[in-house]
Amino acid sequence: MLVFILLELLLFIWVLFTWNILPIILFLLVFGLEILNWSKITYHYNTYWYKKIFRGYIATTFGQHIVTYKYFLSFNIKKHEEVHCQQYKKWSVFGFLIIYLFNFLFNLLKYWNFEKAYKNIYFEKEANGL
Ligand SMILES: [Zn+2]
Repeated sequence: MLVFILLELLLFIWVLFTWNILPIILFLLVFGLEILNWSKITYHYNTYWYKKIFRGYIATTFGQHIVTYKYFLSFNIKKHEEVHCQQYKKWSVFGFLIIYLFNFLFNLLKYWNFEKAYKNIYFEKEANGL
């Protein structure tokens, strides 16, 4: 369901630049469909594209969808990603992504270190039980 989020972001940018009714309606429609999809956590396996897009990571969560290249995830990783699912539920997909991004950028300015900036994102700290 990566398409969903990309679509939301593109629509959001479109809304920001034009303030037309069409992108606003499309954005709300995508959001509505996404909310309908909130009921259960789904795992998606892709050994080829995942490694290409998320190099160096094991699993990534988008809404209630956990994308990974591994068929067998450890308990700790599953737990970590499922905490992100809860955070998505709490903040909504778009809200989560915006907060995550700005938190990361803020940390990057604060620490000048990619790894440290990532580890200190509020959502990551919460998922790691810190
Ligand atoms: Zn995480």
